[in-house]
Amino acid sequence: MPADIVIPQSVTSVPCMICGAQPIIVRIEDGNYIVKCPNSDEHYHTTPGLIDVEAWNRHNTPSESDHIPPIAC
Ligand SMILES: [Zn+2]
Repeated sequence: MPADIVIPQSVTSVPCMICGAQPIIVRIEDGNYIVKCPNSDEHYHTTPGLIDVEAWNRHNTPSESDHIPPIAC
């Protein structure tokens, strides 16, 4: 049986801030879950435990202060 876990559509997840991929949920050895980028383990992943899409979203949503457009002189 496939073990892929799909994020329910009722849960809004933002794409990876680094590469733009939608996150996946992975079950790890001790029965906990992480939400991670499918492309790289070096991109953000949540702390192992319950499926924490909110933590993923918080981390991958740039804050206003981080998003200052460049100004051409
Ligand atoms: Zn990524």
